[in-house]
Amino acid sequence: MNEPCIISVAITGSVPRKENNPAVPISVAEQIESTHEAYEAGAALVHVHVRDEEQRPSSDPERFAAFQEGIRKHCPDIIVQFSTGGRGREPAQRGAMLHLKPDMASLATGSVNFPTIVYENPPAFVRDLAATMLRYGVKPEIEVFDLAMLYSAAELANEGLIERPLHVQFVFGIKNALPPLRQILDFELSELKRLMPDATWTAAGIGRAQLEVTRWCLELAGHCRTGMEDNLRQDRDRRTAGNAELVRRVAHLCAEYDRPVATAAEARRMLRLPASPRA
Ligand code: MG
Repeated sequence: MNEPCIISVAITGSVPRKENNPAVPISVAEQIESTHEAYEAGAALVHVHVRDEEQRPSSDPERFAAFQEGIRKHCPDIIVQFSTGGRGREPAQRGAMLHLKPDMASLATGSVNFPTIVYENPPAFVRDLAATMLRYGVKPEIEVFDLAMLYSAAELANEGLIERPLHVQFVFGIKNALPPLRQILDFELSELKRLMPDATWTAAGIGRAQLEVTRWCLELAGHCRTGMEDNLRQDRDRRTAGNAELVRRVAHLCAEYDRPVATAAEARRMLRLPASPRA
């Protein structure tokens, strides 16, 4: 049997607002409901950003805590991954919720240009976030927005600041960062296999790139990411009805590539996470 595919759902992100698509979950209650629907559609992992009352990105640990507590009631075993992403957040606050001990948190291991800003992750800052995750037993998902970030992640693992096996996400389609080109992913994967043969991996395609990147992941035995953080449309003519509809599309594609959809329990085993959440 082929390797089961872990479907991650990035429900909210930092950028999309209700004006762009009213189905974007903004309040914690909406986020819990949207995650629950996505879980029932096949998502085993939820990637979470929180927002304030004005829909702006927030680092408020209380919002993260409320999400985590709520989702544990509805989807007890879903893998909870908090974002330490930078857009619209104070650097010092980006890891302020890690003491809540989510299963995972995102960790970008370098800086990169985004459409209108520099996404700043200076070396000392990355090391500090990695050390905090290690202290709280939070597994990082390494965000590779640019090639150097892969080598920086390997270096952090060599130093013991990140525990192996790593889980790596390659990101494509952000303006000014890497374009969605298959030969880039092929090269990244060959380097991943050389540097960290035990690593698991996924890739995210932003906007129009989402579907094509999903197909590459399924073909190459990777895992998949979808969700309204990355893409608000179901196809060229129609906005998506929500995170669950995007997850259902990936689940259908899994069948096309003969990849079973991983349950949350299977995903925990594949990512070497505890069988049940600690928090
Ligand atoms: Mg994110």
